[in-house]
Amino acid sequence: TERTLSIIKPDATRRNLTGKINARFEEAGLRIVAQKRVQLTKAQAGQFYSVHAERSFFGELVDFMISGPVVVQVLEGEGAVARNREIMGATNPANAAPGTIRADFAESVEANSVHGSDSAENAAIEISYFFSGCEIV
Ligand code: ATP
Ligand code: MG
Repeated sequence: TERTLSIIKPDATRRNLTGKINARFEEAGLRIVAQKRVQLTKAQAGQFYSVHAERSFFGELVDFMISGPVVVQVLEGEGAVARNREIMGATNPANAAPGTIRADFAESVEANSVHGSDSAENAAIEISYFFSGCEIV
């Protein structure tokens, strides 16, 4: 079975939505096999989003990601990467399909409540950034 890295972002933890978002994952057949709530440092957030370093919104994105605690988690299930991106919905909540996490909870294109890996290859890299093998059960 496949695994993906999910992050419940600061806008969602601030509004106490962790349980509601986790219920979406579980109802869709994804299992939360690792999870921790952490305050990212600027260096950690910058490294995590380093693929976006040249984008105009990079500085604001990093500041947003360190504006409060996040919940980093590993989701496991058949086709977990694509399944999670379906459940999340489009990056901009204005374009997200009804019933997706972003349509229902996101505040803006930046404060869009969740992150999900975009490929199995990136999932492995992102998971190893936050978790060691023995922490994933
Ligand atoms: P994520 O990687 O967080 O799962 P995504 O893959 O849907 O989201 P990306 O293109 O990878 O979207 O962008 C990463 C994050 O950067 C987005 O989730 C969003 O928080 C922020 N972002 C993307 N585009 C913009 C934008 N135009 N303005 C502000 N923030 C943006
Ligand atoms: Mg992305």
